[in-house]
Amino acid sequence: MSQVVVVGAGLAGAKTVEGLRERGYDGRVVLLGAETERPYERPPLSKGYLQGSDEREGAFVHPPDWYATHDVDLRLGTPVASIDLGGRDVVDGSGTRTGWDHLVLATGSEPRRLDVPGSGLEGVVHLRTLDDSDRLRALLGAAPRVVVVGGGWIGLEVAAAARAAGCAVSVLVRDPLPLARVLGPELATMFAELHRANGVDLRTRTDVSEIVADGAGTHVGAVALADGTVIDADLVVVGIGAAPRVDLARSAGLRVESGVVVDAHLRASDPHVLAVGDIARAHHPFLGTHVRVEHWANALHQPSTAAATIVGADEPYDRLPYFFTDQFDLGMEYVGYVGAHGYDEVVVRGDLANRELVAFWRRAGRVVAGMNVNVWDVVDDVQALIRSRAVIDRDRLSDPDVPLGDLL
Ligand SMILES: Cc1cc2nc3c(=O)[nH]c(=O)nc-3n(C[C@H](O)[C@H](O)[C@H](O)COP(=O)(O)OP(=O)(O)OC[C@H]3O[C@@H](n4cnc5c(N)ncnc54)[C@H](O)[C@@H]3O)c2cc1C
Repeated sequence: MSQVVVVGAGLAGAKTVEGLRERGYDGRVVLLGAETERPYERPPLSKGYLQGSDEREGAFVHPPDWYATHDVDLRLGTPVASIDLGGRDVVDGSGTRTGWDHLVLATGSEPRRLDVPGSGLEGVVHLRTLDDSDRLRALLGAAPRVVVVGGGWIGLEVAAAARAAGCAVSVLVRDPLPLARVLGPELATMFAELHRANGVDLRTRTDVSEIVADGAGTHVGAVALADGTVIDADLVVVGIGAAPRVDLARSAGLRVESGVVVDAHLRASDPHVLAVGDIARAHHPFLGTHVRVEHWANALHQPSTAAATIVGADEPYDRLPYFFTDQFDLGMEYVGYVGAHGYDEVVVRGDLANRELVAFWRRAGRVVAGMNVNVWDVVDDVQALIRSRAVIDRDRLSDPDVPLGDLL
């Protein structure tokens, strides 16, 4: 009987085994995960779950008995140490070898660490796992002064959660604006204003030079900046991005270019190995280039393509990148890909000052990405605009009286 081994029991791993069973794969399926929790989704960890409004159970991808009832051999607390491509097996931490006919890598990302003196002090934390979120929630309740290092999505969501918990919050950003590299200055300014309006002490163009210990010497007491400023802190949350976990793939000899390089069917340089989720640098037929997308929707949907490839179906993955965030009273969705060529302009339809709008990133008159902020049910229309590659009249694009569906 054939066997598929999936390494990494996060969202992408769990959806891969689900996809295999949905597509009628009747061989053996083994899901190996380093964590001891069954697969769960991470977005609630910096939002509702961190704030205490979402139930823990809601984060899990499947009910506890799902794996047994779908004949999936789920082995938790089982980090895979190496892959043998020639021998077609993997070796886990205890030395057990598990053979495969197809191997799916879904090892996700890990948070980047702050490399300054004092970053190992107690009270300096990262956020990736359910345990991290539990710990952070408890700490927020007991830490009046929180410093968030980094102004990316997770840093800003944690800042919002910390404000909701009643903490004084400083956010330290290296760039002139948070999120500027993803959104450009036009929309990044909106997020900066949102945080300042909610009492966050947002400091841009800052560089952390040291985490300073308190009087006892073991716990954080302050954060020192390169310009000499010192900010008192009871808790420091480091949110400076994540790196794909590609060591296993690289050591096995698979092609890795800051992500496991895969084709549109998610096959790696060894076609019996596939990669999904945060680690996959996949060729995207619509975008015409390889992209690696560190977002929930990608981890949710790519696995169905991987399962299709394994059962012999021809279904390239070409969903447009999509992500979302919730911060204070702002909810937004972003779809599309601005890419290496950037954009010429951002066209706003709606009210930027009141944060109720749809923004379009345009290149040569064509919409390459769109973001709806506190406006809902427009993602399909925005995707249709992007996929059409049509040159859209600027005035009609910005006019809320022209329905999005009438623009094409
Ligand atoms: C706090 C937080 C909030 C987020 N919020 C959003 C959001 O609002 N919107 C959005 O679009 N995205 C969000 N994301 C990103 C999204 O969660 C990720 O893109 C998604 O989790 C990727 O899924 P994955 O399965 O590829 O990887 P992961 O979720 O990282 O799972 C990989 C799993 O593989 C395991 N593993 C690694 N190496 C091995 C090994 N050698 N052997 C066995 N197991 C191994 C890991 O322990 C982990 O459990 C958020 C992420 C975080 C951390």
